[in-house]
Amino acid sequence: MSNFLTEEQTLLRNVARQFAEEEVRPHVLEAYGKDCNKFFRELGKRCGDLGFNNMLIPKEFGGLGLPTSSFMIILEEIAKESPALTLHLQIQAQVPLYILGLPAASKKWLPKLMAGDAVMAAGFAEPSGIANYGEWPEFAVLDGDEYVLNGSRNFCFTGMYHDVMMSLGLVNGDSYCFFTEAGQPGLTVSLEKKLGLGANWAVVHYKNVRVPKKYAIDFSSMMIKNHKKVETDSYSSLWLQVPAMSLGCAEGVLTKTIDYLKQRTNKGKPLASKSVIQDKLARMQTKIEACRALLYDTVRLEEDGRNDTKLGHMCKSFIPDTAVEIARECITLHGGLGYCEGTGIEHYMRDAIGLTIADNTSDMHYASVAYYMGLPGAERGTM
Ligand SMILES: Cc1cc2nc3c(=O)[nH]c(=O)nc-3n(C[C@H](O)[C@H](O)[C@H](O)COP(=O)(O)OP(=O)(O)OC[C@H]3O[C@@H](n4cnc5c(N)ncnc54)[C@H](O)[C@@H]3O)c2cc1C
Repeated sequence: MSNFLTEEQTLLRNVARQFAEEEVRPHVLEAYGKDCNKFFRELGKRCGDLGFNNMLIPKEFGGLGLPTSSFMIILEEIAKESPALTLHLQIQAQVPLYILGLPAASKKWLPKLMAGDAVMAAGFAEPSGIANYGEWPEFAVLDGDEYVLNGSRNFCFTGMYHDVMMSLGLVNGDSYCFFTEAGQPGLTVSLEKKLGLGANWAVVHYKNVRVPKKYAIDFSSMMIKNHKKVETDSYSSLWLQVPAMSLGCAEGVLTKTIDYLKQRTNKGKPLASKSVIQDKLARMQTKIEACRALLYDTVRLEEDGRNDTKLGHMCKSFIPDTAVEIARECITLHGGLGYCEGTGIEHYMRDAIGLTIADNTSDMHYASVAYYMGLPGAERGTM
């Protein structure tokens, strides 16, 4: 977390830390097993009870209206134990912000989403790719007062146990987003297994799914108009959330590794006393501090009204990549035990890799860094 917390943020951090250590830690491995949907639903509900789901929702809509940095502090703390749960929390807390412009949808779903009594899902990944949005096949047509949706969306993290879903798609070459409910006629989900961050995700299929106009938003002024990307600044505080989880992931696995190396001995001395090992631990701690400085400096600029888009993209590439490096090293430092399933260590590696891909890959973000550096011929790589 930032070295410059307000009093309110210190309290929030303490609440999140206590929740992570006492309520999440004992169940972490359930996220990767048969009962994973239960893990996410039940702990997701606890996030609602603790006010984490509604931190970003403005006060006039019943939320806490807190700044991005406060949410990042929560994500970082929980990710130290369970990066998987933080991805659920991110979708639950961030995606409902798009509902706010639709009074009927807000009234219907927002209170339940904030309380954690309904689960949000996001469908932004067309099977043909995510960043080539302008080239996607048409997703919906207008029929009277309703849109009719056809197609599918991949990689929906909370898809298997969702209640409300937001999907992006094209209507006559313009971008729109639509809100649907699980169980609606024509809407089905199929299970996909994934490597980390929890066991299940879903492909969501739409076959003539009807969505009233009041549950649709025209996004063409900011995303895609007539199949072409609208040239706006691509800064988004969303790009800082996965890096906050990645930072927590790196800190979590490093702390567990240091504890282990202090206890495990060789020739009567703890492994942590070996200079080769100390060197590795010192380098990893330094990388973590560098990530922290980059991340919280970037969000401070945002909150000071001085967004720096290039820094945002650097956060979403450099920090998840660093978390993978650290998780890999920490597995090796556990020896054979680090390579065993169910030890509570190896999942950090699988989780960290997922964080380099979620919300657009590191390479896509580095392409955007190159664009904002003004390098010749560079094009933004992100959506
Ligand atoms: C854990 C996890 C959770 C996710 N949750 C969700 C979710 O809830 N909802 C949802 O809609 N999606 C979700 N996703 C999907 C995710 O957003 C996409 O997988 C990601 O943005 C990459 O898009 P893609 O799979 O289409 O990759 P592709 O576009 O097919 O990319 C393939 C490769 O090409 C590279 N590449 C592509 N374009 C460029 C470029 N311009 N410059 C350089 N390299 C490039 C990529 O880096 C990658 O290595 C999730 C993914 C993960 C891993």
